[in-house]
Amino acid sequence: MDKSSIRATILNEISKTEKAVSDYKELTKPISPNNAIGRVSRMDAINNRSVNEASLRQAEIKLTNLQRALSKLDDPDFGICLKCKQHIPIGRILIRPESFLCVNCAS
Ligand SMILES: [Zn+2]
Repeated sequence: MDKSSIRATILNEISKTEKAVSDYKELTKPISPNNAIGRVSRMDAINNRSVNEASLRQAEIKLTNLQRALSKLDDPDFGICLKCKQHIPIGRILIRPESFLCVNCAS
């Protein structure tokens, strides 16, 4: 894969992740204590909210890592395993952009 298609792929992933972050932010807005939903619904809302908060944190971390990967795209050693110097597949870079090791060296 050449750099420009890797860049396009990362940018696409960034925009999907940004969308996810804004969706989760919407879902984790504070729940008003005096809104009309019943007590059980309120417990549900609070439970869902903590799940969504965890997802929001993960999406934010992913976004940071993707942006870091993008900023390193022009580095001569981008996509090269720090340990064994083999090329890391783009699929892995997108799933684990924070990893600068190939699957073999990371395990
Ligand atoms: Zn390696």
